[in-house]
Amino acid sequence: MSIVGFLSEKQRDRRFTEQLLSSPEGSKILECIQCGTCSSTCPLSHYMDLTPRRLIYLAREGFKDLVLRSRTPWICASCFNCVVLCPAGIDISGVMHALRRLALAEGTYPRDEVIPALSKSFYDEVFRHGKVNEAKVALAAKGLRGTLSMMGLGLKLWRKGRMSLSAEKTRSPSEIREMLREVAGS
Ligand code: SF4
Ligand code: SF4
Repeated sequence: MSIVGFLSEKQRDRRFTEQLLSSPEGSKILECIQCGTCSSTCPLSHYMDLTPRRLIYLAREGFKDLVLRSRTPWICASCFNCVVLCPAGIDISGVMHALRRLALAEGTYPRDEVIPALSKSFYDEVFRHGKVNEAKVALAAKGLRGTLSMMGLGLKLWRKGRMSLSAEKTRSPSEIREMLREVAGS
């Protein structure tokens, strides 16, 4: 199911294209020849609202809002099928990563998808404490009712020491924060 409707010049944001072109992952998007190999080999394109070919096209043409609100980057499993076969050598999986980063930074991501909320909560937990509290991440991603419905699984993990109910920290969360800031280039 495509989310592309009528496209107008007003929707285009050239700075978005520049932003992608200046990222290591998106530096080659202008070389896309729209052959469709990525879409035809992607095992998940059936579930995407924009196929990888369309996503690359709309991204390079600057349709920022449409691209960042798409579910496609969140569905991509980074299997690299498309990357290996792309005749233009585009790091399509990397572009998906870059788009996820931008979408989270701008708060422009599909609100009905669980993966963005999960990613954001995971990142925030690591940023604050250096470690992830699984219960908090589950709450952010699934809400109270969804989390309670997974209590059985949670108890099994807790008994095996794979899940903590108390907030844990690394010895020096500030070092982790520094690393994350460095990676984000902030
Ligand atoms: S396989 Fe590469 S060149 Fe072909 S449409 Fe996909 S991104 Fe573009
Ligand atoms: S890396 Fe993502 S877009 Fe490419 S084939 Fe795999 S799931 Fe599809």
